[in-house]
Amino acid sequence: MQTKIHNKFTELFGEGGQIYASAGRINLIGEHTDYNGGYVFPGAIDKCLMAEIKFNGTDRVRAYSIDIDEQVEFGLNEEDKPAQHWADYIFGVCRETIKRGGKVAGFDTVFAGNVPLGAGLSSSAALESCFAFAINEMNGNGLDSFELAKIGQSTEHNYCGVKCGIMDQFASCFGKKGSLIRLNCKTLEYKYFPFNPEGYRLVLIDTVVKHNLASSAYNKRRESCERAAAAIRKNHPEVEFLSDSKRVWLEEVRGEITEEDFLRAEYVIGEVQRVLDVCDALERGDYEIVGEMMYQTHFGMSKLYEVSCEELDWLAKLARKMDVTGCRVMGGGFGGCTINLIKEELYDAFINTAKIEYAKKFGHDCKVYDVVISDGAHRVC
Ligand code: ADP
Ligand code: MG
Repeated sequence: MQTKIHNKFTELFGEGGQIYASAGRINLIGEHTDYNGGYVFPGAIDKCLMAEIKFNGTDRVRAYSIDIDEQVEFGLNEEDKPAQHWADYIFGVCRETIKRGGKVAGFDTVFAGNVPLGAGLSSSAALESCFAFAINEMNGNGLDSFELAKIGQSTEHNYCGVKCGIMDQFASCFGKKGSLIRLNCKTLEYKYFPFNPEGYRLVLIDTVVKHNLASSAYNKRRESCERAAAAIRKNHPEVEFLSDSKRVWLEEVRGEITEEDFLRAEYVIGEVQRVLDVCDALERGDYEIVGEMMYQTHFGMSKLYEVSCEELDWLAKLARKMDVTGCRVMGGGFGGCTINLIKEELYDAFINTAKIEYAKKFGHDCKVYDVVISDGAHRVC
């Protein structure tokens, strides 16, 4: 990838520049916890967005995307927003850097990535974080990693129309090889935990479906959580978000909220605890417990939170049947990927069976992505 980028850069812009990269991410556990003030537990992966960048002595940016095979030029003022969606990510990062008092000198860039687009591995955060990091370093702006993550998040909000949380950009900016990061979404405190599953592999299976209930269902889930938290708060004023509640406090209000709201809240409170349990297990190197918690999350997302779908449940059931250590739906649900923790020796049999049987059952192929927990944003050379 680096050679391909460099060759194209030389062809378009002459002498080469500096090369930066930033990664996509997985979330091992902690789903639908972010807006409930709970934990998420992401890590950067060995699939990245890489860019060669060089100042061009002007106040304009010339960017070429190898994957889209298109070049765009834009200025750095608000009214210069490019028409191409992919270029908005780079324009947004420039604008958000300037809004934070950073300097952005005009530059030329060629970039490419191998994070699959729209598969739930956050290719967009990889793109934003790569440029946020590079622009910060090349211009000597001295913004810290949290600011860089927020630049990416604000880019999505203000220039790409996606009201996302901070997890993806956080993982991409803070990721470290062999570590997952537990992020408290309320306080933004974070802690690294070792993730070196020797003898196991992490693999994602992409259902390649996205059922379109996702956004209306998401809003309904949020409302359920807010109602449950409000009921609990009457007895326990310290409960700002649902994740602050204990399981027994939820039990106290069982008669006051609907059965549906109760189940949603039961999932969230359980999920926050599972993140903590997984962190403990990782400190002991107990990957079997990690896997068991992943299955419990899948059960909760499917039966209590009701954000799974037939394809995901089918994959999780097959994983259980074939002794995969852990499997759950990753991301918001209603499609996307399962994340699987699997012993090396079972890998080939499981992946082959999943591919063949999935195609038979659903009439189209699933996709498989192997991932290794790796470094986030960095300078390559
Ligand atoms: P994801 O879940 O992968 O983040 P998004 O829809 O949020 O999916 O972001 C995908 C968008 O990010 C693409 O449509 C494109 O505009 C931009 N993007 C990501 N990677 C690349 C790339 N390698 N080249 C060009 N654009 C990219
Ligand atoms: Mg995205």
